[in-house]
Amino acid sequence: VNVLYLGKLAHLRDDPFKFEKALEIIERGALLVSDEGRILAAGEQAEIKAQSDDARVVDFGDAWLLPGLVDGHCHFPQHYATASHGKDLLDWLQRSVFPAEMRYADARYASDAAISFVQRLLACGTTTATAFGSQFIDANMALFSAARNSGLRLIAGMTMMDRGAPETLLQSPADAGNQADALIAHIRGEPLLHYAVTPRFPLSCSHEMLELCDDLLRRHSDAYLQTHINESQGEIAAVRAGFTDAADYLAIYERYGLVGPRSLMAHDIHVSDDQLARLGGSGCAVCHCPTSNLYLGSGLFPLRRHLAFGIPVAVGTDIGAGTRHSLWQELSEVYKVQQLQDFGLDAARLLYLGTLGGARALRLGDETGNFETGKSADFWVLDDSENPYLTERLRHCDSWEDQLFCLLHLAGPGEVKATFVAGRTAHRAK
Ligand SMILES: [Zn+2]
Repeated sequence: VNVLYLGKLAHLRDDPFKFEKALEIIERGALLVSDEGRILAAGEQAEIKAQSDDARVVDFGDAWLLPGLVDGHCHFPQHYATASHGKDLLDWLQRSVFPAEMRYADARYASDAAISFVQRLLACGTTTATAFGSQFIDANMALFSAARNSGLRLIAGMTMMDRGAPETLLQSPADAGNQADALIAHIRGEPLLHYAVTPRFPLSCSHEMLELCDDLLRRHSDAYLQTHINESQGEIAAVRAGFTDAADYLAIYERYGLVGPRSLMAHDIHVSDDQLARLGGSGCAVCHCPTSNLYLGSGLFPLRRHLAFGIPVAVGTDIGAGTRHSLWQELSEVYKVQQLQDFGLDAARLLYLGTLGGARALRLGDETGNFETGKSADFWVLDDSENPYLTERLRHCDSWEDQLFCLLHLAGPGEVKATFVAGRTAHRAK
C-alpha cells in the first residue's frame, strides 16, 4: 500500500547556481510513496490527497520533509578518531589516525563500530554516504552488512596502502586486488551498495598499487574511484618531492587512469587553474569538507573556481578530521568558508550542495537528491518543536526561505525526527 507523508516540503528542482527559483518550498506539502519506495508524487496536500484515496497517511504536522543528505566523504575507521590532536594533516595521520585505524583489525570491534557509524549517519539525516573503508576485509564486510541492514545507501571500498604507515595497515598489491574483488562480488546485486576503489593518497601507494587501482577500474566498470588531492601545503610538498617527474598532484592520478566521471577527489584546496580545467574536462567530481579543512588548518576551498570550471561538487563531513557526523551542520561551515572568500551562499545553494548537487556529483542524481517523481524516497524529517530557542527564532522570520536558512545554521541531529531510505524507515528518534 502507498504511503502519504504530510509536512512542509523543501527541495531543489534543479541547480540554483544556474537557475533562478530552483528551490521549491510547499508549506502544506505531501509526498506520495509507493510500496517499492519510489516517489509517486510530491506537491500540495490538497492535490496529492485527491489522487491517493487508499494511501496510508503519516502526518508530520509542521515539521519539514527534506531530501536525504549526501555525505560525499568520510572515513569509517575514523569513527572514533574525531577531535584527535595533530599539528597538521601528516602529523595527525601518524599520531592519531593510524593507531585508530589499526584497531579495526579486531573484527568484533570493527563490526560494533560499523553499526554505530551507520546509525549515526542516519540519525543525522544522511541517506547516502561515500566512505573510505578499513584496511581489513572483515571490517569492510561488516560495514556493508551494517549499511544493508539499516538501509543506508553506501559507496565504500577498502582503503589501499602499501607504504608510509605501520605495517599492520599495509597490504601487498596482490592481496589488495584479491580482497577488492571479493568485496565487489559480495555486494553484487545490492541496489543501495556500491564499490569504490580507494587508494588513500600517493604517499600511501607504490607504483604497483596505483597500477592495480587502474586494473580494478578497468575490470569493474561500475566501480567508483575515491581518493584525496591537494589538501594541505605540507602534504602537497611531500607528494611533489616523492613524484618529481609528475607536473602536479593531479598528473599522478592521471598517469594511472584514475581521473574520470566516476572519480571523486576530496579537498582540492590548493589547486591551479590548469588542474581545474583538466578536472572539469574529465567529468571528475570534487568533495569539499569545510570542518576538516578548518580543523587541520588545511585551507579555504575555492568553490567559485570549481563551479566556474564546471566541476560537480559534493560536501563531506570527513569524519574523523571533521568533528561531526552531521552533513546538515557541515553546510553551515560551507557557508562560513565561502564568506571568508566573498562568496555569499543562500539557503537554496546550501541545500543543493548537501542534496541534489551531492547526488549528481556521485552520479546518483537520477536516483536520489530531490522529490522528483520516480526517484527513490530518500528523505528525513526535521522537527524543531522541541527546541525552544529555535522555534522562537523561526517566528521572527519573514519567509519560509528565511526559516530554511536559519535551520541550516541552527538545527542539528537533535532535530532529526526520522530518516527514510527507499521508503523504508532507517532511523526514528526515540
Ligand atoms: Zn579524508
